[in-house]
Amino acid sequence: MSGPITVRLLDLFRIGLGPSSSHTVGPMRAAGRFRASCLRRGVRMDRVTVHLKGSLSATGLGHGTHTAVLAGLHGWEPETCDVDDVQNLPVTLGLDPLIAWGDGHVRMHPDDVSFLRYHEYKHEDLPHPNTIVFYAHQGDALVHRETWCSLGGGFVRRAGETESKFDKERPAPPPYPFHDTQSLVAIAIANDMTLGGIVLANEAAWEPTSGATARGLDAVWAAFKNCISRGLEREGDLPGGLFVKRRARELLSRVENGIVERGYAPVARAQAYAFAVNEENAAGGRVVTAPTNGAAGIVPAVLVEFAERQKLTRDKIHGALATAGAVGMLVKTHASISGAEVGCQGEVGTATAMAAAALCELMGGTCRQVENAAEIAIEHNLGLTCDPIKGLVQAPCIERNAMGVAKAWSAAQLSLHSVVSNVVSLDRVIKVMKRTGDDMRREYKETSEGGLAVSLPEC
Ligand code: SF4
Repeated sequence: MSGPITVRLLDLFRIGLGPSSSHTVGPMRAAGRFRASCLRRGVRMDRVTVHLKGSLSATGLGHGTHTAVLAGLHGWEPETCDVDDVQNLPVTLGLDPLIAWGDGHVRMHPDDVSFLRYHEYKHEDLPHPNTIVFYAHQGDALVHRETWCSLGGGFVRRAGETESKFDKERPAPPPYPFHDTQSLVAIAIANDMTLGGIVLANEAAWEPTSGATARGLDAVWAAFKNCISRGLEREGDLPGGLFVKRRARELLSRVENGIVERGYAPVARAQAYAFAVNEENAAGGRVVTAPTNGAAGIVPAVLVEFAERQKLTRDKIHGALATAGAVGMLVKTHASISGAEVGCQGEVGTATAMAAAALCELMGGTCRQVENAAEIAIEHNLGLTCDPIKGLVQAPCIERNAMGVAKAWSAAQLSLHSVVSNVVSLDRVIKVMKRTGDDMRREYKETSEGGLAVSLPEC
């Protein structure tokens, strides 16, 4: 396995808005880049139109991609935008479609964001399963056009560009370069460090100002906790017409009232936290990719529950986030964290492995045990398809995160109490995830055309 790790820790944990990192955060960011590009080039234009293709189109309104694109064209950022303003855009722009653009205005009507069907373009020609084409018009003339890809986890790239921002901006070689799990574990053991310690040391060498990574991780942790609190406060149906009821609050109250068996309480509490995060995500609230929005509940649920119970220090929390991040970096580099590319094994499978690795380390696991925990978690998510009903990130996604919590817990325990190492390495299982994703039919990769997504009769 070769290829440098070019993913930054805080790129895996991005504060944004729901319901999907690839279908909401990524398109919003791509639209913002298109706007910036037009303004930088001085494109004279009076109207924007947008074509959504591939999975971005197949999931329809359910993933909120059209709203995210409208927000990005305003220049709003996922990290800082007002969530209510974003959700109101289809209505406000329907009434008044002019948006501020440089010194003037351009027209951006919600109906000008089109969900193209498969027969309207050649699917095999798409540069990525999540493709967006932006068109700038002046009168009847098309004056500029850009194609962008949403790569999963909020990452975006303009079609045809291969060089990452990281490659351009990396100021110095990292002190502990690693390119796969084997090299990462070997470096950590040789230096008597944890996997997360290696990641943090590398990040420190690259940060623009001293302490930037630690401050970023503090913000991520605060966003985890805020999201859990908000999700636990709310009740009622989630939006979208599937009439999925919020369950986080009720689940937690059963734990707190001793209705859940005592020995299972930590897992059940963490599962309630996962419900809280994923219900907020489904409602378009503010969440953190970990490593994606659809799988945003597992890492915060497992780590916040453990941190509260064990009263973890700030350093321990940062180390756990970095260990989780190490696993995300390895999967993102050598397979994918995008449901549209490899199915849900890349989203919930990766998040489960990230949480398992961090938890195993917090429970005293060695580097090898941490690797084994992550491997077990991915191995038992291999082949997991992405089939959200009605294109909403609700069913099976919310429960799937709660199951990811239980699996992460089990994987950490299994690894800690096994006397021999796993037969399959983490590097190998990541390779298998990629191959399985490549073999998976399109219907099972965030298109809502297969599996559970077609199991309910249309009402
Ligand atoms: S099924 Fe999994 S990959 Fe697909 S939208 Fe839901 S959480 Fe994301």
